[in-house]
Amino acid sequence: MRVVLAEVRGFCAGVQRAIDIVEIALKKFGSPIYVRHEIVHNRHVVDRLRAKGVQFVEELSEVPPGSLTIFSAHGVSPEVKQEAEARGLKVIDATCPLVLRVHNDGGYYAAQGREVILIGHAGHPEVEGTLGWLKGKGRLISTVEEVATLRVTDPDRLAYVTQTTLSVDDTRAIIAALHERFPTIVGPDTKEICYATQNRQHAVAELAELVDLVLVVGAKNSSNSNRLREIPEARGVPTYLVEEPAALKPEWLEGVKSVGITAGASAPDDLVQGLVELLRDKYGMTELTTLPGVKEDLHFKLPPQLAS
Ligand code: SF4
Repeated sequence: MRVVLAEVRGFCAGVQRAIDIVEIALKKFGSPIYVRHEIVHNRHVVDRLRAKGVQFVEELSEVPPGSLTIFSAHGVSPEVKQEAEARGLKVIDATCPLVLRVHNDGGYYAAQGREVILIGHAGHPEVEGTLGWLKGKGRLISTVEEVATLRVTDPDRLAYVTQTTLSVDDTRAIIAALHERFPTIVGPDTKEICYATQNRQHAVAELAELVDLVLVVGAKNSSNSNRLREIPEARGVPTYLVEEPAALKPEWLEGVKSVGITAGASAPDDLVQGLVELLRDKYGMTELTTLPGVKEDLHFKLPPQLAS
């Protein structure tokens, strides 16, 4: 069996920064440290940090007043920031700078008096945070079909922004439908789908041309991992999301001669290496190659509290 690794795959700059923030804060300030929501959507990352003494909460009401609290990479609404202030929490914000850019763009459009269509997935923490920055003028849609039934106050005072981890192709179709129905709508096109999402989607599309089966290492609640799964699937290539090597099912590999592997932006590379080892030790992998692809060298600055 031949195994091909996608390039680029795995951790992005925003995820690496968020994990670094928690680890550096632990060293600098010690326990207890609270993190609101999973710092990034990966159980292995969360479990490893929990083992070092980090406490994960869903609501700030679970954090004792005055405690050090880190906001996850997905970002928070202004209401959450206000709640943290009211509780006297010491906050370090690990929101990815590319999510902050969406908050800023959305807030700017809303301040112009525009209704702002947020293209994204309901229930995702990034979407909940971004909606908060739209000053009550946000409307969430996820599909092309929803554009046709969308009710707006003034069709000539509209803007849109997008979640950072969407499918580029699906989002392009939704934006085209918005422009067709509301010709004066303004927005960033697909530029707010972040570089890491776009690079990984491009790489998995190439991978899908070369293999019989694709495995995406990533968590079920990871938006960008799910989008990576959909791309080979749409090309008729069987594709499975695997949270860890042990989740691999032998029946998936029956009759398969080549396996492609990629990983979502929040999946640690040791899980990919573990999967490769399993394929070598138990399933007769004879060849391992990595596709030539984009090399990412973006790094985001740490927040001021941790910069020195
Ligand atoms: S996937 Fe993109 S937006 Fe999300 S943390 Fe990574 S770089 Fe930031």
